[in-house]
Amino acid sequence: MDGIHVSPVDLYRAKKTIHGFVRRTPLAASPSLTEIAGSEVRLKMEHHQITGAFKLRGATNAILNLSDAQMQKGVIGMSTGNFGRGLAYAAQQAGIRCVICMSNLVPKNKVEGIKALGAEVRIVGQSQDDAQLEVDRVVEEQGMVALDPFDHPDVIAGQGTLGLELMEQWPQVEAVVVPLSGGGLISGIALAVKSISPTVRVIGVTMEKGAAMYESIKAGKPVQVKEYPSLADSLGGGIGLSNQYTFNMVKALVDDIVLVSEAEIAQGVHHAYWREKQIIEGGAAVGIATLLAGKIQSSGNMAIILSGCNIDMPLHHRIISENN
Ligand SMILES: *Cc1c(COP(=O)(O)O)cnc(C)c1O
Repeated sequence: MDGIHVSPVDLYRAKKTIHGFVRRTPLAASPSLTEIAGSEVRLKMEHHQITGAFKLRGATNAILNLSDAQMQKGVIGMSTGNFGRGLAYAAQQAGIRCVICMSNLVPKNKVEGIKALGAEVRIVGQSQDDAQLEVDRVVEEQGMVALDPFDHPDVIAGQGTLGLELMEQWPQVEAVVVPLSGGGLISGIALAVKSISPTVRVIGVTMEKGAAMYESIKAGKPVQVKEYPSLADSLGGGIGLSNQYTFNMVKALVDDIVLVSEAEIAQGVHHAYWREKQIIEGGAAVGIATLLAGKIQSSGNMAIILSGCNIDMPLHHRIISENN
């Protein structure tokens, strides 16, 4: 396919590479969402992944594909939190140096989580773009290897292993609902499921404010968007004006992108807790949110990806204590 540089074979290679380093997460039936949708809904429990989010898959695949010389320099990345955590954990497993740069919009619990994994943390500026400038500076100065949280073939292939797993667990799946930010997760999943079963619909969901991939697809090219604080903090940030991989993959492989409001995201977190007994972060709740809000039509057997659990617990407590 035009402009697509990750192949289905890359996904199987990634699966072999990261085997033993990541968890195979369960797929669970959801009676409550099945009733609401009027057709079968299952939840992919990726928030039970080590480090609490799927980012570990891509980070591990990218690190294990480095040369010895690159491993000696160490890795550096910018992150809204979960990629930093995955990268730090994977670097610790591989015994290499790791630096994580982030903006001060990132919640404190995520910063602490990354430090606890032995990485150096640098907090700079108000946006992902500011964090990226710091990454570029350190790469220039020290020759460390920069790993992008989504726009990197090994990262996309690593995230795609989640899609392979899903196809093994539910070969009859007909629609997959995926949280969307930079698009590494949805690109990998869409490639996996559509290579095996081309008619499966892949639907991305993101927050209304600062939906970088949505605006870029609409504009026909990567565009910059303003960043806003959101309950879905892990979906913040741009897709990069010189995006090389995920923009083309989303354009070619994703069937629809749906937007949800802050109130709808809160309802998703609330429902996951009270009805499914699952603690998930805002960014992971957008799939449930869009179903509850009636924003996607039932399209047969539907899998919803729960992508992470790294929420600030006092915030989680406030959300689930509301009567919605
Ligand atoms: C990073 C992240 C996403 C979005 O992944 P992209 O590859 O950037 O689209 C979704 N959910 C959670 C919990 C994340 O950490």
